[in-house]
Amino acid sequence: MKDIKDLTFEELKAELAEMGEASYRAGQIFAWLYHRGALSFAAFTDLPKKFRDELAAPYEISSLELYGVFRSQDRTRKFLFKLGDGSFIETVLIPAGARATVCLSTQVGCKFSCPFCASGLKGFVRNLTPAEMVNQVLFLKHHEGEPVTNLVFMGMGEPLDNFENLAKAIRIMNSTEGLGIAARRMTVSTCGIVPGIGLFKSLGLQVNLSISLHAVTDEKRTRLVPVNKKYPLETLIEACLDYRKGGGRKITLEYVLIRGVNDSLADADGLARIARRLKAKVNLIPYSLVQGLPYEVPAEDTIRLFVQRLEGRKVPVTLRHSKGTDIQAACGQLAGRPFNKVGVKATHLTF
Ligand code: SF4
Repeated sequence: MKDIKDLTFEELKAELAEMGEASYRAGQIFAWLYHRGALSFAAFTDLPKKFRDELAAPYEISSLELYGVFRSQDRTRKFLFKLGDGSFIETVLIPAGARATVCLSTQVGCKFSCPFCASGLKGFVRNLTPAEMVNQVLFLKHHEGEPVTNLVFMGMGEPLDNFENLAKAIRIMNSTEGLGIAARRMTVSTCGIVPGIGLFKSLGLQVNLSISLHAVTDEKRTRLVPVNKKYPLETLIEACLDYRKGGGRKITLEYVLIRGVNDSLADADGLARIARRLKAKVNLIPYSLVQGLPYEVPAEDTIRLFVQRLEGRKVPVTLRHSKGTDIQAACGQLAGRPFNKVGVKATHLTF
């Protein structure tokens, strides 16, 4: 069976043309799937029964199975979903005032093995389909009643390593017939997959790009972000400059501050040099502890001095204290594990 939610609006129109159906039917189908959250073709009551049966023959309508919910004291919620093949993924909802940001996963596990991150601990399992990405947002929209305003592709996995499916999911969520989320309210984060940055530019959408930099020398970055061996800093910077020259939006550099590893003033100076070259802004994120990993949270004074050093070098910098650390929902903490089975306490868990 094919998943109808894997199709962009344009692809659905093409499929309908092959079936000899009018293209306006695509709008009706998208409205049922994305506005009303229908889970069966039988629910599409404004479509003729014969046509519904024709759709149901090759297609299914997928949804996610909720396995657990973890609620943080800061209102962040983490959702553990079980996929059809038994894999687990995690999605985080971060409400802040009138905004509700969803941090999406794009793969089960991750190939890139950054040693400070929980997502890569068990290696790579598989790419998520476009439908599995879109369903994370749909679930929160229809079951949590949250008007999702912003999306960040920063959950489990490396988005640009699953580019084709990512691009389809973005188009479905961006289209007015789909979820209608503005491209400027979406951010894709990459650990530095250089060919993927070129592909991302070719999307031609105003989606934001963020680079997980985390270190400013090749020696240190190869240790923290091993893909740096394949795409070293200068290659990555050149790709970012090309992206900007081609009309790409302002880049954000993500920098997780880890005690005694990348939090010195020399690191801050190197970061300032790269940020100024790229005319990028910097998001500083103090490390969030991951069970079993040897990295530590930096001291408050160190963080303050690091921020001041960047500001002194005229680099726009935002200090982001990760949300949801008490439920292991912060940056680098997502592992896709059924935590209850290994005894980690959640503030709330439902099945
Ligand atoms: S930081 Fe990103 S690229 Fe690195 S292991 Fe974690 S999910 Fe993968």
